[in-house]
Amino acid sequence: MRIVLIGPPGAGKGTQARFLAERLSIPVISTGDLFRAHVAEGTTLGRRAREYMDTGALVPDEVTTAMTTSRLAEKDTSSGFILDGFPRTVRQAELLHQALVEQGTALDQVLAFHVPDDQIIRRLASRRICGDCRLTQRTDPADSGEENACQACGGSLQRRDDDREETVRKRLALYTEQTAPLLDWYASRWLLTRVTATGLIEEVTRRVFAAVLPSTVI
Ligand SMILES: [Zn+2]
Repeated sequence: MRIVLIGPPGAGKGTQARFLAERLSIPVISTGDLFRAHVAEGTTLGRRAREYMDTGALVPDEVTTAMTTSRLAEKDTSSGFILDGFPRTVRQAELLHQALVEQGTALDQVLAFHVPDDQIIRRLASRRICGDCRLTQRTDPADSGEENACQACGGSLQRRDDDREETVRKRLALYTEQTAPLLDWYASRWLLTRVTATGLIEEVTRRVFAAVLPSTVI
């Protein structure tokens, strides 16, 4: 199966992508990871992306798409893949569609994770990262968490600047602005399934599996 996951930051998309990938025995392709690898390895695409990033410009859709589609041409994706973090725009969706057509395939499903903004803000407000081992973990929302110790290594926990309420609100507004047309684009092609991503992780997993594998879920 060829699946795209779309969701706001903090929607738990990465976790669900891993469960689904395990169940379907297909790889998760995270565009963020691909991007970092290309830049770190200094590939042609990585160097092109770097030039834009260095000048503070947005990396063009063509560059991001080329990174993703070259990854999709690798052998381990022959029975499918889960794309996480791509496409983000209608232009990228069109380019992806074109690339898949050239490979003789097409997407099977697009899952859009929905979580109300206030819940995301609450989730991210309790997220901390360990300064030593970089493990991300939750703190009790009731305390400030700044003095808490890492559950893995005892290091000191910090809040990421990205997770502050103002920053999160800006990211969510940008997400909605960018993805609303993308969701419409996929909905008009009968590929879109909306998944409510609130509640326990297991409950979300059940909804995701029910959407992707309706006949096999109890
Ligand atoms: Zn740690």
